[in-house]
Amino acid sequence: MATLTFDSLNPATGAVVGTHPKQDATAVREAVGRAEEAAAWWAALGPAGRRRRLLDYKAVLAGRLRELAELVHEETGKPVGDAALELVLTITHLDWAARNADKVLRRRRVRTGMIGVNLEATLEYLPLGVVGVIGPWNYPVFTPMGSIAYALAAGNAVVFKPSELTPGVGVRLAELFAESVPERPVLQAVTGLGETGAALAADPRIKKIAFTGSTATAKRVMAACAENLTPIVAECGGKDAFIVDADADVRAAADACLWGALSNAGQTCVGVERVYVVDAVYEPFMRELSERVASVKAGRDYGPITMPGQLDIIRRHIDDAVKSGRAVTGGPSSVRAPYVDPVIVEDVPEDSPAVREETFGPTITVRRTRDAREALELANASAYGLAGTVFSRNTRRARELARLMRSGMTAINSVISFAGVPALPFGGVGDSGFGRIHGADGLREFARPKAVARQR
Ligand code: NAD
Repeated sequence: MATLTFDSLNPATGAVVGTHPKQDATAVREAVGRAEEAAAWWAALGPAGRRRRLLDYKAVLAGRLRELAELVHEETGKPVGDAALELVLTITHLDWAARNADKVLRRRRVRTGMIGVNLEATLEYLPLGVVGVIGPWNYPVFTPMGSIAYALAAGNAVVFKPSELTPGVGVRLAELFAESVPERPVLQAVTGLGETGAALAADPRIKKIAFTGSTATAKRVMAACAENLTPIVAECGGKDAFIVDADADVRAAADACLWGALSNAGQTCVGVERVYVVDAVYEPFMRELSERVASVKAGRDYGPITMPGQLDIIRRHIDDAVKSGRAVTGGPSSVRAPYVDPVIVEDVPEDSPAVREETFGPTITVRRTRDAREALELANASAYGLAGTVFSRNTRRARELARLMRSGMTAINSVISFAGVPALPFGGVGDSGFGRIHGADGLREFARPKAVARQR
């Protein structure tokens, strides 16, 4: 029987970029079987052997940066420069995970805390076995690699299901891995639609699923994982808040706000979508922001909307926002498929979809608040809680606001893309998911703690 296939398309031109098999449950089962065997080999290689291979892989990716950036550009539509940046960040993570895995995971003596019992105890973090990674399309290299690199460094084999919008680059990542590790299929890609991911999540031999995608899909993946008690780390959507306090540098805040909202054409889990500005600086901030928005251009500063279905959501949110609020820049005519120009709307009610739901486009709602406390209350009244930003020259207040913000990560006086910082744990609260990738927490997420105690 002929294998069913699907095409990946360039969202800007509609041209076919590649044709890939829709791998069914049997193909996924076979891949997991190969991975189980590879996992045992990879674990036995030891930390030093794995570090060397992962650093080789890093060099291979660096050498193919241009080729990979072109492929990301074709499959997502994002400017090549943005795609190249994504690859640089990927390499940074790979390097950090490879160099730090042994330090974080190796066996160490532990003080037991028991009184009057003479125990000698050790704790180490062992590989899980086979990890399934299910990825999105918006950062098709960087996002899944934020799990893959750490899972591999922790001694696991990985079966990776890339998004159906960006299968080509997913397959290429696995092919290039085989150049550094030709002996066993330690990293494999399986292509297909949601069913392929579902088959991976349902396989009882998978020891952990690292899922990145929408909150709705995360719930389906969790339901499948529940059958085998397969643990999951879920990196889901966001609706990040941006607070501008009374003593903020409004020019710097406007620069950061625009970048945070427009980066990857707004198709970023940590994209700025809600802005709360304290009354004292509202006018100057809005003036600065509007000036900057007027200077950006589709195709040069931001790419198209990658997923055609997303345009409907963005359109619905813009229509709703301009009906219930006041458009400052743009409006329904800003949706010029496949591009969406930046839209800023003020005074949109907090219970409207444009404020509550993830838009995943270059649109922001702005609200004037009495003070920073009110801004924080509104920022925290979201089901999501991925990242957020506080602008204030008062370091003490900024730190306090950042700490109290209901998010996994908060930046002060800049829109720091936490996703690019290897040593800090990345992840959210509430509908933004749970578990952490990156950093030492990210390494431990893909390992099982093993305690041994000896009576002396
Ligand atoms: P999506 O949920 O539609 O798809 C994600 C992946 O899940 C795809 O590979 C898809 O094929 C697969 N899938 C679909 N149904 C499945 C099922 N039943 N079982 C298993 N797998 C299944 O998300 P998307 O549109 O690719 O990505 C956009 C979303 O991802 C946004 O919500 C964005 O905020 C989020 N995201 C989050 C992060 C983060 O780190 N928190 C990073 C990037 C993107």
